[in-house]
Amino acid sequence: MNYISTRGAGIGERHTFSDILLGGLAKDGGLYLPNEYPKVSADELARWRALPYADLAFEILRKFSDDIPDEDLRELTRRTYTAQVYCNVRDEENAAQITPLKTLGVEGGAPLSLLELSNGPTLAFKDMAMQLLGNLFEYTLAKHGQTLNILGATSGDTGSAAEYAMRGKKGIRVFMLSPHKKMSAFQTAQMYSLQDPNIFNIAIEGVFDDCQDIVKAVSNDHAFKAQQKIGTVNSINWARVVAQVVYYFKGYFAATKSNDERVSFTVPSGNFGNVCAGHIARMMGLPVEKLVVATNENDVLDEFFRTGIYRVRKSSETYHTSSPSMDISKASNFERFVFDLLGRDPKRVLQLFRDVEEKGGFDLQASGDFARVQEFGFVSGRSSHDDRVDTIRDVFEQYDTMIDTHTADGVKVAREHLQAGIPMIVLETAQPIKFGETIREALEREPERPAAFSGIEDLPQRFEVLGNDAERVKEFVAERTR
Ligand SMILES: *Cc1c(COP(=O)(O)O)cnc(C)c1O
Repeated sequence: MNYISTRGAGIGERHTFSDILLGGLAKDGGLYLPNEYPKVSADELARWRALPYADLAFEILRKFSDDIPDEDLRELTRRTYTAQVYCNVRDEENAAQITPLKTLGVEGGAPLSLLELSNGPTLAFKDMAMQLLGNLFEYTLAKHGQTLNILGATSGDTGSAAEYAMRGKKGIRVFMLSPHKKMSAFQTAQMYSLQDPNIFNIAIEGVFDDCQDIVKAVSNDHAFKAQQKIGTVNSINWARVVAQVVYYFKGYFAATKSNDERVSFTVPSGNFGNVCAGHIARMMGLPVEKLVVATNENDVLDEFFRTGIYRVRKSSETYHTSSPSMDISKASNFERFVFDLLGRDPKRVLQLFRDVEEKGGFDLQASGDFARVQEFGFVSGRSSHDDRVDTIRDVFEQYDTMIDTHTADGVKVAREHLQAGIPMIVLETAQPIKFGETIREALEREPERPAAFSGIEDLPQRFEVLGNDAERVKEFVAERTR
């Protein structure tokens, strides 16, 4: 399997899975994709139906990472996808399934279900990919005798998923910037209570955007970046996307009895990483009817899928919502889908994303390309704070199930795209405890708290407060990597 950039670099060169694993963007600013998607045969699909999660992950990943020996990859996936790691299940009976499917009821003539992706250590779906990334990074670094210092900025979900995936891993340190005193007590405790010596929590006296600006400034100092072996784990990382392909297959098998059936998925979306994995599963041959993109008030993606116009927002136009992990101004993985939509034409992708930088967006309606969106099964919808609150209340009253704000955006939009005879699977991206304020508003009660998290706010915390200053952060990193 060879990897190419959406903007054309590397055509005729060889880039393996391991080559691109630790990197970010391709050198031309594009995103990596396989030169073609591996196809799943009817025989494979039939055989995969019975596999436990870890072995299904092995079968899917080996199609994308043929430079990792099978026995090594099997060991990595079995170590990653265990009931011990994904232990925060709401129903003990489901512990072995890793991503249990919970059917709410029949709506619109077919079952409406939640695919639980948030039973991992940080209670959000990012664990599904990040836990594998931790093991893959450690494996690959050891093989080449290298080390890596991960630098990131977080307002919550991504940072804690990265820390829990990388804690205790050989050859890896994590430097995670977060806005000082701006996260919820629960999220702060989740991150700062980690005592592992390779994890450094840096509380910046500023807001999340300041943290992101510092990461950019440090990354733009190429000499420092190379010398300190700085890397990232952001959502454009290819291994993260491909790890997420697995649960679309798992969810399909759980919702159907035969491979002649089709299902639809609704995906609460921000940076388009999660639903991009659904697109790839479909391109591999998974019988998917619709991929429903659900956004919150930050509706860049919903606007595109309704009109063909992609218009990125300024930070002043980006709302802080009660589903904050979907608060985006542009969708960093979207370029991967646009590449496929345009028949994999890197010259046009390059031009369009130049237009994004220079003009703030592009319009695919006029050129006729937008008409092809339906061939790929995509539709969309958006949700507001009131929708979220209503949906949380309704799902609780009707089905005795507590859902978080992001999943509520998904259920709200899923209900606009139900089709008789086609099961609808909403991806559950976080547990309600992470967004307690809105749960209290909707239900006038406390969110459910998994047993492992009781009293987490009282644990000792390990973090360092630094001023809003990139130079100071560089010093901090350099002192600890000597
Ligand atoms: C990151 C995140 C999302 C958005 O996922 P993308 O892959 O960025 O589209 C949705 N919900 C939760 C809870 C998240 O943490």
